This record gives sequence, structure tokens and C-alpha cells, in this order.
Amino acid sequence: MSRYSLLSLYRHSRTGHENWPRAWRNPPLRPSYDVVIVGGGGHGLATAYYLAEEFGVRNVAVLEKGWLGGGNTGRNTTIVRSGYLQDSSALIYQHGLSLFEGLSKKLNFNVMFSSRGLLQLAHSVHDLQEQSRRVSACRQNGIDLELISADRVKYMLPEINLSCRFPVMGAAYQHDAGNARHDGVAWGYARAADSLGVDIIQNCEVRGFRISGGRLEGLETTHGDVRCNRVGVVASGHSSTLAAMCGFRLPMTSVPLQALVSEPIKPVLNKVVMSNGVHVYLSQSDKGELVIGAGADQYSSYSQRGSFAAMDSILSPLVELFPYISRLRMLRQWGGVVDITPDRSPILSKTEVSGLYFNCGWGTGGFKATAGSGHVFASSIANEEMHPIAAPFSLQRFYSGALIDEGSAAGVAH
Ligand SMILES: Cc1cc2nc3c(=O)[nH]c(=O)nc-3n(C[C@H](O)[C@H](O)[C@H](O)COP(=O)(O)OP(=O)(O)OC[C@H]3O[C@@H](n4cnc5c(N)ncnc54)[C@H](O)[C@@H]3O)c2cc1C
Repeated sequence: MSRYSLLSLYRHSRTGHENWPRAWRNPPLRPSYDVVIVGGGGHGLATAYYLAEEFGVRNVAVLEKGWLGGGNTGRNTTIVRSGYLQDSSALIYQHGLSLFEGLSKKLNFNVMFSSRGLLQLAHSVHDLQEQSRRVSACRQNGIDLELISADRVKYMLPEINLSCRFPVMGAAYQHDAGNARHDGVAWGYARAADSLGVDIIQNCEVRGFRISGGRLEGLETTHGDVRCNRVGVVASGHSSTLAAMCGFRLPMTSVPLQALVSEPIKPVLNKVVMSNGVHVYLSQSDKGELVIGAGADQYSSYSQRGSFAAMDSILSPLVELFPYISRLRMLRQWGGVVDITPDRSPILSKTEVSGLYFNCGWGTGGFKATAGSGHVFASSIANEEMHPIAAPFSLQRFYSGALIDEGSAAGVAH
């Protein structure tokens, strides 16, 4: 892999930037691999990268039915934070956040991680009570969250209307939360994994699993069959269809989650703002667009489109909070298919098929965990034993009852 640097930028400028090498190869599918990852989103690509980089497993393929990052990875609103209630969640999300710091350098790819600070607004006494409980839980887990007053919210967000129909009574503030560029994260992991020998194969859909005597033997794909006895399925909203091919059901529903962006404007917002109460979250991209996320749809679907109903329900409370937004034109809207579990926590697990692992259920909030999830999932596959941070998220919890309830921290999309 040729390194990206100021020097290489200068060199390529002399030839009109026409000779940059491909960021990753386009190899054919080989007949067998040590590990195959199904799904070329951020989590799948990160898993492949850490398998090769940290755990020495280099005979790896990532199979993606569309294009890299074309699933939820390239459709999210890019929020990265770790302020969750339960200890197990705090560990995995904080692991993800800490890996984001320094990721650009490690991957030699600018993922534009910006820890600009994030406010979760409180609009009622109930919100304040939930937040103060979560703030203390987070602080015990070493997460930099604090409860701030409405005056401090106004100081940080001068444009906010505190006394609107949803009065702002304070906020939970995480200093080191922020955003990262979602495509950059997928492309950075893809390029780095490819340079370590991982085969990344796009437009290659997995259509079946070869299982014999409870052991995984290979996969059937649109590019032919492949032999492999360790497979990690990282397919977000499509995970349940893949589980059905293996003969079991996942406790998960797939629903659309929508977002939209405004026209680009000069800098007006230097924090990430979320409101669980009115179900909206907002930040300003480096291009100047306001990136706005909605709540999940109430019905199951595999549709990846936006809708006027969602735009309407998200923009009306947002305009009450930030009146200047009424003067902006909205540029684009879209949807992704998110994978929601009953306790709103992810599934990282072995399955009843030996050699088959699933990493899914990240629902409306898995982008922030891309690095951490990839890292602990790679460790679990390489060592054939779930990593201690991943272990509580096993499918077993739905039998034992040891659920990890993040209904309040993750009930709103983010
Ligand atoms: C509108 C929206 C806003 C969001 N906002 C945030 C946010 O601000 N912060 C946050 O942390 N999270 C957010 N999320 C959630 C986050 O995007 C996801 O949890 C995360 O990106 C999941 O990554 P992934 O790699 O697991 O899945 P994906 O990126 O969806 O990748 C899965 C891949 O698997 C592929 N695949 C599926 N079936 C097959 C098959 N049979 N064969 C081969 N490949 C297959 C798909 O094509 C897809 O590319 C948001 C999601 C949406 C939709």
C-alpha cells in the first residue's frame, strides 16, 4: 500500500492527481479461506482488518452483496459516543470510542474523527432523572459525562430556543463524544485490510450455508461456492434472513430508520445535539450541511428510502428548538434497515452451528462501536472464544434472562 502523506499529495499534484493507485484490489473469490466475513459494512471490514493486523489471520475474505459501506455504515448520522447505562455497554462503546482516537493514523486514512462534545437534551423531570442516573453510572465506568444546566446549554448552543413547546431543562454532556466520517471509516478499514492481504469482494451475495453434522463447511455465493469453517456474519438488518438460511431465528426485527441533510451553510453548530424526548439528533458536517436523524419507523421493512411523514415529524420539533432551521432547504433524505433487539443491545455470539458467529443487533446506534465491535469480534473468531467485552452480548442472554437493557440510552436513534 502506498502511504498517504503530504509528500505523496505533492508528488501526485505534479501529474494532475491522475496516477493515484486503487485504494484496494478487486480480487476473484478463491475456493477456500480460513475466515470469511459476510457483510462489507464498517463492522465487517473492521473485523477483517483486526483479524489480519492483530491476530495474524490473513487468509480472510469479506463478501459484500452490494458496495462497501452501502448499508447502514454509509447511511448513518455519524454520531460517536459512549454514554450508555449498563456496565457491559459502557465497556464496549467506550472501547469503540477509544479506538476512534488515533484511528486515522493507524489506518493512514483520515476518518475525520472530531470529538466536539455531545449534548442530550432533557425536556422533562423524567428526562432529568434518567440522565442523572445514567451520568452517575457512566462516571463510575470512567466515561466523561456530566449533567449541565439549561443556562450552560444556552451558552454552548446560542441558537437554541430553551422555552419552546418542549422546554429545555438541562442536558447530559459528553465531552469526548462527536462525529467521524462514516464512508471514511469503511474505506479506511477496507484499504488497510486489503494491504494486509484480505480479499474484499463486492457484488458477491451469500445465498446459502453448507453445514454438516452441526459444523460449518462453507458458503454458497453468487460468485460460486467457497470452503471455510469459520464465518462471521455482520449483515445488520439482513442478519435474520442469513440466520434463517442456517435454520435458526434471531430475536431481532428489521425496521427502517431515516435521516436527511440540509443545504450547506456557514458554521452554526459546533456540538452534536440529541433529544430523546422529541426524537431528533443533529450535527453540522464539515461541508456545512446540517445532518438530521429521525426515530425508527414503527413497522418492519427492508426499504432504504426516506419519507415525507418522517421528515415532517422530525422537522417540526427541530424548528421549535432551532427556529433558524425553518429557513433552510433540505437536500437529501434516505433510510437504512436497522436491526433492533428486545433489549436494544447488540448480539456478538457463537451460534448452534460450530464455526458460525453473528455480530448484529446494533440497531440505531452501531456506527459509534464500529472499531470496538470489529476488534472484539476479530479476537473472538481468531481465538474461537468470545472476547470478555463481547461475552455478555451472546445469544444465551435471551435464554438466561441476563438482558442488557439500554431502552433509555438507546431508545432514541443516534
Ligand atoms: C439513518 C440512520 C442513522 C444512524 N445514525 C447513527 C449514529 O448517528 N450513530 C451510530 O452510532 N449509529 C447510527 N446508526 C446505526 C449504524 O449505522 C449501524 O448500527 C452500523 O452502521 C451497522 O454497521 P454494520 O457494518 O453492522 O452494518 P452495515 O453497514 O449495514 O453492513 C452490513 C452489510 O452486509 C451486507 N449484506 C447483507 N446481506 C448480505 C448477504 N447475503 N451477502 C453479502 N452481504 C450482505 C449489506 O449489503 C451491508 O453492506 C444509524 C443508522 C441509520 C440507518
